[in-house]
Amino acid sequence: MIYLDNNATTAIAPEVRDAMQPYFEEFYFNPSSAYQIATEMAKQIEAARTVIARHVGAANASEILFTSCATESNNHVFSGVAKANPNRRHIITTTVEHPAVLEVCKDLQRSGYEVTWLNVDRSGRLNLREYVQVLRPNTLLVSIMHANNETGIVFPVARLARIAKETDPNILFHTDATQSMTKLPINLSGEMRGVDFVSFSGHKFHTPKGIGGLYIRRGTPCRPFLIGGHQESGLRGGTENVPYIIGMARAFELAEETHAEDIARMTQLRDKLQRGILERIPHVEINGGEAERMPNTLNVACHYVEGEGILFQLNDAGICASSGSACTSGSLEPSHVLTAMQVPFTAMHGSVRFSLSRYTTDTEIDTVLEKFPTIIANLRQLSPYWDQATNAPR
Ligand code: PLP
Repeated sequence: MIYLDNNATTAIAPEVRDAMQPYFEEFYFNPSSAYQIATEMAKQIEAARTVIARHVGAANASEILFTSCATESNNHVFSGVAKANPNRRHIITTTVEHPAVLEVCKDLQRSGYEVTWLNVDRSGRLNLREYVQVLRPNTLLVSIMHANNETGIVFPVARLARIAKETDPNILFHTDATQSMTKLPINLSGEMRGVDFVSFSGHKFHTPKGIGGLYIRRGTPCRPFLIGGHQESGLRGGTENVPYIIGMARAFELAEETHAEDIARMTQLRDKLQRGILERIPHVEINGGEAERMPNTLNVACHYVEGEGILFQLNDAGICASSGSACTSGSLEPSHVLTAMQVPFTAMHGSVRFSLSRYTTDTEIDTVLEKFPTIIANLRQLSPYWDQATNAPR
């Protein structure tokens, strides 16, 4: 099997699995218990927090909160700031966010919040002039993702956060960095010092599903989301997931140890795949190809074919890819991201996302380049749109 769906989830790194193992067997204690071996668990959690804080350039380890996933982290931000700042009721976000932000914003809109939805242009970029115009002194929160899960397009969040703070230092800035974490540099004491909240999720970088995190800049007004025990400095009740916390910290270390090589290899393989597809298949374009993109993501629009058909054929060829975000593939709704980018109808439905990881090999890319053109050619033979486009009689 060739797995090119790493923006949906990733394989667990053997090093991460090994780091977690003792915490499933010998060290199963509740970190809140008083005996010494349990307090050792609490110390390990703090060590893990320090590793992650260092990775993102947080000034204090206490600014890292452990959650169950990025969806929870995003919900925490919106719910927490709304409760802590009841007098501000204006939110700014984009039309291309993941549903874990989009749907939360729609929910707040239904309960009376005003939400400004920023659109993107044909290349997937935001319009900075429009952004500056919609910021207001009473804006509660700006939530703009760091990198898009479908296209890999990177938004200039450091700059956007700086502009928000210049408008009013009390405007809060959140970025969903679920896709970019460990792939793009994040320095919250450096260029990203205007960012107050960062969401991330371990399963996007070789940790099991079920562990995530949220950076909350010290002093930022935000109420708890999961109300319960005193864990996580009272910001999130619930017994800590010790093995997964340890595993996620190990995944961060691993990403640091091999970062330069991993990024260089992924970029080289992604570019090879892109070049090969453009050379071998006519009527193909790269969604977001003109914008700055993450090194591992390639979203290909194949005109005149149907995405689901491509995925089935790829599956039969042993290749796992995706036609949109994992949460929406399986429905025939066109991708909201590609719709926002005004990708033409004949291309939107034939768009496929290949997303690579540190484990993707050159041979795997060669195999995709061998099989993908035939799949598209065969599907086009069956497509009425292709007939129309080429005037071929049926
Ligand atoms: N945000 C983005 C940008 C994502 O890509 C995803 C998952 O694909 C999520 C949030 C949700 O992550 P999780 O599955 O950890 O809740």
